[in-house]
Amino acid sequence: MALIPTIIQFVIAFFGAYFVALWFSMIIWTYYDIRARSQDLYVHIFATALVVVFNVFGLVLYLILRPRETLAEAYERSLEEETLLQEIEERQSCPACRQRVQPDFLLCPYCHTELKQRCPRCDRLLLLKWDICPYCGNTQLQGAPSVLPRETRGPVVPATTRR
Ligand SMILES: [Zn+2]
Ligand SMILES: [Zn+2]
Repeated sequence: MALIPTIIQFVIAFFGAYFVALWFSMIIWTYYDIRARSQDLYVHIFATALVVVFNVFGLVLYLILRPRETLAEAYERSLEEETLLQEIEERQSCPACRQRVQPDFLLCPYCHTELKQRCPRCDRLLLLKWDICPYCGNTQLQGAPSVLPRETRGPVVPATTRR
């Protein structure tokens, strides 16, 4: 009558194997999960060791302690923030008086600083620093020098007549 002990042994072996497989999967899962969330080797080792030693409780602890974002999510967020920042920068303000101006303003209505130049050939608004019109290819533009606000431009004094 060795049947019952054999069944018990089989059940124990079955659940033992199941338990080991589960444990092993949890370790692997934790390892891949922490690798997606941190670049620090010590954090990888610590998180994996937590599950190796404490099993399910280690996994619960890990889930509580793990970094909220994966590296990919953090990267995506930083990209989004950068785009947002760029949008804010592009929502232009006058370089001289910092008042809000519309992108199609030729001059600042508050301090009269030149903001844009008009292409004499195609009549479109261009940035002051451009010396070529991207719309019609006109190269007869004022170009870079007029980027400076009017006040700072001042009269040009030849070096020889100074003093
Ligand atoms: Zn202004
Ligand atoms: Zn043009």
